[in-house]
Amino acid sequence: MSGTGGYGGRDDERRRDLDQAMYVGLARTRRQMLGDHGDGLLDKVQVERLLVTETTKAFARAVAEARAADFTWEQIAQRVPGLVRTFGPQAAERLFEMVAVVGSRLGERYAPWRCGECDGLVRDYGPYGGHPVDAEPGHRGDCGRQARAVRAYEAGLEADGQRAIDIRQTVTHHGSKSAPWAEVIGPEGPGLGL
Ligand SMILES: [Zn+2]
Repeated sequence: MSGTGGYGGRDDERRRDLDQAMYVGLARTRRQMLGDHGDGLLDKVQVERLLVTETTKAFARAVAEARAADFTWEQIAQRVPGLVRTFGPQAAERLFEMVAVVGSRLGERYAPWRCGECDGLVRDYGPYGGHPVDAEPGHRGDCGRQARAVRAYEAGLEADGQRAIDIRQTVTHHGSKSAPWAEVIGPEGPGLGL
């Protein structure tokens, strides 16, 4: 482990997980020992809130580990109970919003993780499309994962451009060039999923 940045490698992660497991266990035990009246009720409020905070952090860490291992936001969102049912096609974006941290620049939000392939500390700006180099800065220059993502992105752009050309030809062929939606389709145009 190079040990640069804010992450201290596997041993630190394991120690942190162990600390957290102990904390959660102790909090549960303490809650069971609290009384059902007077200050005991207020103590319960405090303990339950602390548990929420800790489990929220653990959830964000589990998501970051899955992203580091190259699972997509969509794949991870599928496994979060209730997320797809509630948010449908926006489930991946919603998951990102749940775990993203606020950066130092105004309005900046990202999920930090260390790439399992190149060991670079990545700022993941979420499942909003865009060029992989902009969406996930921090991979090292020789990262195979990022190279594959860039190739897939550029192949997607080419396929979109070809689809737009095909649609234009079809539209021209049928003599309905003035269809309003035909005007907005181009190599740089929106992906209409056609
Ligand atoms: Zn990488």
